[in-house]
Amino acid sequence: MPIDAKQPYDDSNIFARILRGELPSKTVLETDHSLAFHDINPLAPIHILVIPKGAYVSWDDFSARASDAEIADFTRAVGDVARQVGADAQGYRLLSNVGKRGGQEVPHLHVHIFGGQPLGPMLA
Ligand code: C5P
Repeated sequence: MPIDAKQPYDDSNIFARILRGELPSKTVLETDHSLAFHDINPLAPIHILVIPKGAYVSWDDFSARASDAEIADFTRAVGDVARQVGADAQGYRLLSNVGKRGGQEVPHLHVHIFGGQPLGPMLA
């Protein structure tokens, strides 16, 4: 079920638990303020999630509360992951679902990186 992105941050969400090491994930990149890991249910040969380590639900929450260092780190992590996994060679897609109408399921800000095949009009 898509979540209400205006709800207060719920630190029992799955990505918060991954960040605390309570649930496993296959790490692609870890930086001071960001973590990238393989999506558990990949929709393309490359399907990686990049999340800030801070407790943010949405982009509007992130831009309102995150420091410049966190924003820079997260933005850089997305591009670095694309290069690291070779998605940059033939192109890739970024997607970030936010809130009920955006179809967000996990209430912690995340960016999907899809690649490794020609991508149709929509994914996730
Ligand atoms: O953007 P949305 O909130 O719908 O995406 C959540 C994503 O988190 C899904 O693609 C799902 O497969 C992924 N997920 C994961 N590991 C989990 C739970 C969900 O990679 N343990």
